[in-house]
Amino acid sequence: MPEGRQIAIIGAGAVGVISAIEALREGHRVTLIDPGEPGGEQAASYGNAGWLSSHSVIPPAEPGVWRKVPGYLLDPLGPLAIRWSYLPKALPWLIKYLLSGRTEARVEKTAVALRDLLKDAPLLHKKLAEEAGVSELIERNGVMHVFPARGNFDGDLGWRIRKRVGVEWLELSADEMRQREPELDPRYTFGVVVEEAGRCRDPGAYVAALANHALASGAKLVRAKATGLKLDGGKLVAVFTETGEIPCDAAVVAAGARSKLLTQSVGDPLPLETERGYHVMIEHPETGPRSSMMASDAKMVVNWTNKGLRAAGTVEIAGLDAEPNWKRAEILRDNLFSMFPKLPKDIPASRIKMWFGHRPSMPDGRPCIGYARASRDIVYAFGHGHIGLVGSARTGRLVAQLVSGKTPEIPLEPFAPSRFL
Ligand SMILES: Cc1cc2nc3c(=O)[nH]c(=O)nc-3n(C[C@H](O)[C@H](O)[C@H](O)COP(=O)(O)OP(=O)(O)OC[C@H]3O[C@@H](n4cnc5c(N)ncnc54)[C@H](O)[C@@H]3O)c2cc1C
Repeated sequence: MPEGRQIAIIGAGAVGVISAIEALREGHRVTLIDPGEPGGEQAASYGNAGWLSSHSVIPPAEPGVWRKVPGYLLDPLGPLAIRWSYLPKALPWLIKYLLSGRTEARVEKTAVALRDLLKDAPLLHKKLAEEAGVSELIERNGVMHVFPARGNFDGDLGWRIRKRVGVEWLELSADEMRQREPELDPRYTFGVVVEEAGRCRDPGAYVAALANHALASGAKLVRAKATGLKLDGGKLVAVFTETGEIPCDAAVVAAGARSKLLTQSVGDPLPLETERGYHVMIEHPETGPRSSMMASDAKMVVNWTNKGLRAAGTVEIAGLDAEPNWKRAEILRDNLFSMFPKLPKDIPASRIKMWFGHRPSMPDGRPCIGYARASRDIVYAFGHGHIGLVGSARTGRLVAQLVSGKTPEIPLEPFAPSRFL
């Protein structure tokens, strides 16, 4: 593999910018291509919950989830909703999704693979943030999961598998919870603290700082939409964009939920879908949690950010083009009020911000990290679903290893795009 390659990285979200930093470290020349601002609102990397949860190893589909599908279709405001009008398009992906979580063994296989990808991620992010001069944006002081009852936790397959793949935690009784989180509604009577996890205080600002760091280290940024990859006899020669061709001898497809057309353009029809998610953010909130927490009943993460108290989560299957359903964000707001009853209900609308974005999701909950079939000059790095911020740190290193022709630092078989082809 030639040294010092000219690499075009398509997409400047968390995955793209960290891939750029790591590729520069390997001695390559890098051009980042994105029509939007790195770290801008168009990217999932902007509005996510900011959890650096190295224990988020359980894929979304678990055994028996198919029984819930009618509910997903009937309740457009539920934690997971499927829009009727989009069902025919989503069906092939949904079938793969249900099958991938059919047995405990399949879920565990994914958990083992994701543990490799995510282990040490908070530390890797801390180091990247230090390099980029924004160390204060990454904190490594654990996260909390809160449950209405201990039974919700004990009966959960995900936590049993987490234990088997080496995740450790601290369990909190109702009293211990009260001491740690006095503002939390007393209906939560059991908690779990995962001390190895971390969080980001402003994901958009973090990605923007990483992009600036890549540019200061020699990368170029082209503000354009990539439309395809130009091969000549199995060798990559350029990336097509709406404003012309960008010559290169390697490319990384890291365009998040919009990567599908690019992989199709080189003959890889991969089952990438968007799991749309929302956030609501209260600026200068009167109260809130002391730690960052996930509520098992509301299926949302509550995280302090530099811009305010952010609640993010839930899933809507409705494609890339449908208008957002802001009622889903209002539910996150109402859940926040119910979790923290001392938050005044009459907070002016000007202090409440809402956002929606596209998780790039593969049906089995594992990203695609590996070469295109048409050429090893093309590396795929997308499909991180719910774990793309935390997973971006090691993914960037893996991308740099792949473009350099080095042996990847973790086994990539579970992430091979070819598993779907
Ligand atoms: C509500 C919500 C909460 C979440 N919470 C968490 C969390 O707490 N922790 C966590 O780890 N993950 C979380 N995620 C998931 C995480 O945000 C994503 O997995 C991650 O941001 C994906 O990063 P990415 O770089 O692959 O894609 P993106 O951040 O979406 O970036 C893709 C970039 O590609 C660009 N692009 C698109 N098409 C083209 C093209 N044709 N040419 C050039 N550029 C293009 C876009 O403009 C964009 O900038 C959450 C997601 C959501 C929606």
